[in-house]
Amino acid sequence: FTSAIVGALVALSIIALVLSLVRIEDVTLPPTVKYGMVFDAGSSHTSLFVYEWDSDKENDTGVVSQNLSCDVQGQGISSYANDPAKAGDSLRECLNKAMKVVPAGKQRDVPAYLGATAGMRLLREQNSSAADQVLAEVTKTMQEYPVAFKGAQILTGEEEGAYGWITINYLLDSFTKYSPKAHMWVRPEAANIFGALDLGGASTQISFMPESSVMNWNETSKFTLYGYNYNIYTHSYLCYGQNEMLKRLAKELIAVRGELGVDHPCYPKDYNETISLSSFRTSPCTNQSDPRLILGDRNVTLEGRGNASGCLAAIKKLFNFSACGQRQDCTFDGVYQPPVRGQFIAFSAFYYNFKFLNLTKGQSLATVRETIEHFCTRSWENVRSPQWKRLPKYCANANYILTLLLDAYKFNETSWNNIFFRMKAGSADVGWTLGYMLNLTNMIPAEPPTRVKGHVP
Ligand code: AMP
Repeated sequence: FTSAIVGALVALSIIALVLSLVRIEDVTLPPTVKYGMVFDAGSSHTSLFVYEWDSDKENDTGVVSQNLSCDVQGQGISSYANDPAKAGDSLRECLNKAMKVVPAGKQRDVPAYLGATAGMRLLREQNSSAADQVLAEVTKTMQEYPVAFKGAQILTGEEEGAYGWITINYLLDSFTKYSPKAHMWVRPEAANIFGALDLGGASTQISFMPESSVMNWNETSKFTLYGYNYNIYTHSYLCYGQNEMLKRLAKELIAVRGELGVDHPCYPKDYNETISLSSFRTSPCTNQSDPRLILGDRNVTLEGRGNASGCLAAIKKLFNFSACGQRQDCTFDGVYQPPVRGQFIAFSAFYYNFKFLNLTKGQSLATVRETIEHFCTRSWENVRSPQWKRLPKYCANANYILTLLLDAYKFNETSWNNIFFRMKAGSADVGWTLGYMLNLTNMIPAEPPTRVKGHVP
């Protein structure tokens, strides 16, 4: 009998020991940090983002943070069309920096992507083998590094828009919330889902969740994220990025006058810029021959006039509004868009320009209009500041933004107040890269997240 009791006691203590070991293991193993990296190869420049997150929260919302952002020196990768190897070389400095922030033992597990946007879409249109070579060279360089290279590709405009939308709503935690009271994930309020407005150098994107009653199902992307369905309208306009718009504006002003000296209403008074007409040939946005342009390859001088209303009028001519007729569900060029709905985050060049003009603090539309008008009428003497190469462009950029948001997308006095001009949300920069990585690494499950066990302190 005693030996039976001793046996039972031994068995019990073994079970207790095993249980305590399991428990110790449960609480003492720290979550491991994981990393991922994405190059944003834009039309005018490339940036590298390194993200990190705790492995045990992988499928939770809003847990990824930005560890590093690195600006690649020089122009975008499409500018190396004539010397593709240089496109690869341009990435090295940032890759070296990334290798310093990711511990050596983890580098081999870091998924690494390069996504190229409108600059490369335009190059592919113009010279597809040059675009392929540039992609091959950036691939070669990335493969030299000890990371898990996953691919270098050109995103479609719709992907770019949709990933920007995912980034914003992921960072702002608007997809789904865990309710500790109800012990479950609760349905997000449609009103708390943000739209995304992205203005790049060569294209611009708008993405939002329209009222379902007005949805045109051919034009929507469907996502199932954390157990809920989202129908998103997204559209990308190629050649409507800021740099391509400035070039189209210059071409139009020159074509109308057909002279070697041309007034530029958006540039400040006393500011002159000389451009070669051959520069219009480098992009499919401006390379169509125009019977009004009979000046060959000569240089033309654009003479600033600081004319606010003239600038706005010239910019409106870059849009074909009449193709929409009387249709309200139409932006320009006959493009369908349901009425804008809810709050929007406007980032990239929307933010840069408004930040420069001090217009990111939620000013009313009337104040914004007044500020831009006032800025446009200043003479070059008053705005000059040697380190600011962009200065003469802000008037055109700002009027372009107004035209796009008001005349094309049809924001009005009231809905204007729902646009937030931002560069960051939480700890990370707003852009398409995070959404792209989350999607390609399957970090946003279609199912609701399983509740992660809390650690006993
Ligand atoms: P991307 O390189 O395609 O992302 O485009 C970003 C756009 O923002 C380009 O047109 C840049 O020229 C423009 N940009 C970048 N920094 C500034 C700034 N500080 N002010 C105005 N525009 C900017």
